[in-house]
Amino acid sequence: MDFEFTEEQRIFREAIKNFAENEIGPLVEEAEETEVYPVEIIPKAGKLGFLCVRYPEKYGAAGTDKLTENIYIEELMRVCSGIGSGLLVQSSLGTSMILEHGTEEQKQEYLVPAIKGERISAFGLTEPNAGSDAASIQTTAVKDGDHYVINGRKIFITNGSIADYICVAAYTDKSKGSKGGVSILIVDKGTPGYSVTRKLKKVGNRSADTAELLFEDCRVPQDKLVGEEGKGFPYLIATLKSGRISYGGRCIGVARAALDASIRYAGERVQFGKPIKDFQVTKFKLARMAMEIEAARWLTYRASWLFDQGKDCMKEASMVKLYASEVAQRVTSEAMQIHGGYGYIMEYPVQRHWRDARLLTITEGTSEIQQIVIARELGV
Ligand SMILES: Cc1cc2nc3c(=O)[nH]c(=O)nc-3n(C[C@H](O)[C@H](O)[C@H](O)COP(=O)(O)OP(=O)(O)OC[C@H]3O[C@@H](n4cnc5c(N)ncnc54)[C@H](O)[C@@H]3O)c2cc1C
Repeated sequence: MDFEFTEEQRIFREAIKNFAENEIGPLVEEAEETEVYPVEIIPKAGKLGFLCVRYPEKYGAAGTDKLTENIYIEELMRVCSGIGSGLLVQSSLGTSMILEHGTEEQKQEYLVPAIKGERISAFGLTEPNAGSDAASIQTTAVKDGDHYVINGRKIFITNGSIADYICVAAYTDKSKGSKGGVSILIVDKGTPGYSVTRKLKKVGNRSADTAELLFEDCRVPQDKLVGEEGKGFPYLIATLKSGRISYGGRCIGVARAALDASIRYAGERVQFGKPIKDFQVTKFKLARMAMEIEAARWLTYRASWLFDQGKDCMKEASMVKLYASEVAQRVTSEAMQIHGGYGYIMEYPVQRHWRDARLLTITEGTSEIQQIVIARELGV
């Protein structure tokens, strides 16, 4: 067992840390305030090899392993969860099924430009009446000659209003149920019948773009089908497993930002004649926050390692998502407490980490759903 980063991982971590601090950092305030995603960051990230980092070098990506991807995600999210989320959808849900199951033509048309940051991607599964129960989606894609005709509504779609294309989950054959009846189709921006109905205002992750989309008799050629017809659900489950491990880096990044801010603040804030860090209760809070982050990090690294070895890690992936997202809740909440009244004032960044963290137990499978998966894997 080797707990050291490789030289390559150390260099990569330093490079992404610099990029996040110097290129993303200056954009955060305005993007959070205006709730407009700074799209210019996507080609910048692509040019430097900071998109889809785990994808193969033959498509222009960095070809890292899952563990290095998590190192990358942590550094990104430490600076801004909202802007980071846009980059991560581009690097996972919006592109991964094209990588795994797409044709070579689809890879050249959609994947390669996404890796370069020249085309923005999104992924649409969730609907107004179908969230955790993804099998109950109502969107359909009916074959009509050499086209599919899509009808349905998608909600909460990250990158939804800025995407150049979206991978959409729809029933191609409802009679076969979710396991054999759902397919993934690529829909280009501008396709007649595909529209953004509204942008959604959020409690946190405000710089991320989140939209509701409508498909009304939207015709897409059959060569936009990703992989085999009816295999969408199994493809999704594999994608979500990888995504749950990535939540480790996401949650640790946000929690670390809150811990760093708290250590700084506790050293500066003087009450009763001494910095509040000198009160034992504050030291104990900071110690527990650091310990929980460390525990979440090692759970994440081990699940990443299992994933890289091609070993079964469904249970571990859900454990990472469940534990790390709850650590992020506890750490950001304690960080607010350490900041006292100033924590509640928008000028201090800790409120942003607290609001951003709140999302993490909800998206890509709620904490309740992760517990159902873990229990199922335990055979109960
Ligand atoms: C900011 C944001 C960005 C998102 N980005 C995307 C995106 O890019 N693409 C996309 O497709 N989706 C996206 N989502 C959707 C997200 O994945 C869903 O919100 C999530 O899966 C939960 O679904 P829901 O909101 O419908 O909640 P529901 O499923 O309605 O759940 C409500 C509550 O009921 C609980 N619950 C549900 N079923 C059970 C059960 N069987 N047992 C116990 N408890 C249960 C849940 O845990 C939760 O507490 C995004 C959401 C948000 C808020």
